[in-house]
Amino acid sequence: MKANFHTHTERCNHAGCSDQRYVDVAIEAGIEVLGFSDHTPYVGFDGDYYSFYRMRPDQLSDYVTSINSLKEQYSGKIEIHLGLEAEYYPKLFPGLLEFIKPYGIEYLILGQHFLDDDQHGLSAHWIKEESQLVKYTDQCIEALETGLFSYLAHPDLPNFDRSHLAFKREMRRLCEASNRLGLPVELNTLGILRERHYPCIEFLEVVAECDSTVIIGVDAHLPDQFTDTETAEKADELIRRFGLRTTETIALDRLEKYYATHT
Ligand SMILES: [Zn+2]
Ligand SMILES: [Zn+2]
Repeated sequence: MKANFHTHTERCNHAGCSDQRYVDVAIEAGIEVLGFSDHTPYVGFDGDYYSFYRMRPDQLSDYVTSINSLKEQYSGKIEIHLGLEAEYYPKLFPGLLEFIKPYGIEYLILGQHFLDDDQHGLSAHWIKEESQLVKYTDQCIEALETGLFSYLAHPDLPNFDRSHLAFKREMRRLCEASNRLGLPVELNTLGILRERHYPCIEFLEVVAECDSTVIIGVDAHLPDQFTDTETAEKADELIRRFGLRTTETIALDRLEKYYATHT
């Protein structure tokens, strides 16, 4: 693996180590392109939302300064990019775009951990009903259709019954939307490491059927994940088993283009 665009920092309160440590270990692991995509702050949400899930709005400036200075410091050794992992909340998303505008964020990845427009809304992890799964899929597709996200992280996040017909049907809708928009879908290796319900076989079967392009996302919450060859080998095995096509590049100019045309 030469590139990873899914990396967190300790600002989100559930990842560890210094920003620099992520860079050093990535270099040690042979990674040539490293994108930071910590959980974005969301303007309009209050205190308790920030305690475990994400950086606070007042931390964004420090995040940007730190990643940009590492970018300079390590120039020639590793290519570093500045991104954020964000949910798409339809009513709040314009405010997010406005808030992050001055910071020169290069890319967004979509991590739809919650639904609706509510910080206390349904957690996508705990989706059990078919109607909720459809809602998750609709919300993800609407997000991708903004043209501002570079890919959908852990598409198979909902902990919905994998044997239910609706699961593959909705995953197919996500893959087809990604194909139509020219975006890869993520194979999330944190899920493999933690033995979570994703990435799952049923999702990868759909990815193969749809011939979608896959990007491996380490979803690093600790730098050691970069040197975890056992997990990387398991991911490779899945890629080979399902004959998946992979990419190691994503669009990095979507926000820039958007801001250039929306003043
Ligand atoms: Zn996280
Ligand atoms: Zn993540």
